[in-house]
Amino acid sequence: MTENDTPARTDAPLAANAGYRRPVVAIIGGGVSGAGVAYHLALGLAETPPAIIVFEPRREIGRGLAYDTLDPAHRINVPAARMSLLPDHPEDFLEWIERNDAVADDPAAHRPDGSLFPQRHLFGAYVAAALLPFVQSGAVRHRRALVTGVTRDGRLWRISDSQGGQTFADFLVVSTSHPSPLTPRNLAVLEDHPRFVADSTVPASLDVIGKDDRLLIVGNGLTAADIVASLARNGHRGPITSISRRGLRSRGHAPFPQDPFGEFEEAPAHSATLLLRKIRQTIADASNAGLTWHAVIDQVRGHGHAIWQNLPVSERQRLVRHLRPFWDVHRFRIAPQVEDVLNEAVDDGRMEVLAASVGQVRLEGDTIHVSLRRRHAAPVDRTFDAVVVTTGPAHGGILDSQPWLTSLRDSGHLQLDPTGLGIACNERSEALADGTSADPSLLIAGPLARGTFGELMGLPQITEHAAFVAGELAAKVKAVSRVRSSS
Ligand SMILES: Cc1cc2nc3c(=O)[nH]c(=O)nc-3n(C[C@H](O)[C@H](O)[C@H](O)COP(=O)(O)OP(=O)(O)OC[C@H]3O[C@@H](n4cnc5c(N)ncnc54)[C@H](O)[C@@H]3O)c2cc1C
Repeated sequence: MTENDTPARTDAPLAANAGYRRPVVAIIGGGVSGAGVAYHLALGLAETPPAIIVFEPRREIGRGLAYDTLDPAHRINVPAARMSLLPDHPEDFLEWIERNDAVADDPAAHRPDGSLFPQRHLFGAYVAAALLPFVQSGAVRHRRALVTGVTRDGRLWRISDSQGGQTFADFLVVSTSHPSPLTPRNLAVLEDHPRFVADSTVPASLDVIGKDDRLLIVGNGLTAADIVASLARNGHRGPITSISRRGLRSRGHAPFPQDPFGEFEEAPAHSATLLLRKIRQTIADASNAGLTWHAVIDQVRGHGHAIWQNLPVSERQRLVRHLRPFWDVHRFRIAPQVEDVLNEAVDDGRMEVLAASVGQVRLEGDTIHVSLRRRHAAPVDRTFDAVVVTTGPAHGGILDSQPWLTSLRDSGHLQLDPTGLGIACNERSEALADGTSADPSLLIAGPLARGTFGELMGLPQITEHAAFVAGELAAKVKAVSRVRSSS
């Protein structure tokens, strides 16, 4: 049930007692972050609910980019037992799976160590199912439209959308997280090539790749791994070259279940160098205790907010500049089923992983000649039939990715975080309007708030943050309601 047939203007008085207008919370982006905020807000203010409107063009709210996929090769990359919409109840998704017998037709989801790595769409189904009662009751309204414009109108936000709607809201939440990747400059020449995939997250974009095509994948992270797994499933047998600047591949999961190990919260490091030293020392201690690095990185993730808070901005920038590639491959672990496919392709000699960047690109008909600039080695030339870009969402370009975001920046309401990881906000997740002053009516939810909150990409942190933003909003909504009902 969506709002598509409802009148476009949603600023009419919403409560029975004329004169009182329920506060309106507009959430732009209904992936897990936006859906999570709506869910926790509706749950927390069940007695005196605001009008909660989620703008999301996808069929259901709760899926977003990651979980709106039917490709069976796409699996969650952390065990189901650690993915939940409820921060206080980490096993909620697992229990939902059991209640619905949801992996009955997918024996490969079960790992020998007892953990479960289901297909990704299942997590989307779980979040959408959690939201459904709220959507059906009208507590959360799904406006199936793209937001095209946002302006200030007195004390309200005026939101225009692709269905011709105008919505006025007291509070605005930006949770549009992942923009498309940027095409590396040297690949711009391929723009019109029939087998150039600039954004592999566009549904069916890989269909243009033939079974015997020689393929270049630019980027080596989890999306690249997904692509190799999807193509293998569809019978691709051509050679694959996968490149990234350092040639690092996402690491696999721990060989056995372990609790997080180490302490990073109580005496947090104040510089990138000290933090790195502490992590290395803790990994050595973990090893002496019979554990692996996984337990330490899990603890760093869990303590990520405290660690980040205690680092000056210049040290945060150093971390992002120098350590991010290493952090990403240890922290974003590959699903074991996908790792098996990748290992097989490498072992069979069908896939090479190079530390390289794209040099000169030359077209001969549809054949693509690429000079690969290798790190600490001579360049090599390779010939390809298809190229896919998987360099990851261009978060640093978020404010240029959609006209309404650009206009909010140009009108002084939004600005890029100094680390380049997303949108600047304070510790209450309120957007920092012009340098330092925060706008209490404009909140940032999800990975776009990473510059302030640190680690905020994996599900556990995403749902914690969504619940936090919902709590902040609940307090604001109550304050506005009090003022309105007494005037
Ligand atoms: C491919 C992929 C797989 C992942 N797998 C895992 C995993 O297995 N485990 C894990 O812990 N983490 C995983 N992650 C991490 C992931 O970032 C988070 O889990 C989470 O999905 C982020 O959700 P989000 O709602 O913040 O962002 P998104 O999923 O990007 O959702 C943003 C939503 O905003 C909407 N939107 C954008 N612009 C507008 C507009 N103008 N108007 C209205 N709506 C708009 C989009 O349609 C989209 O649905 C994965 C990430 C990706 C990209």
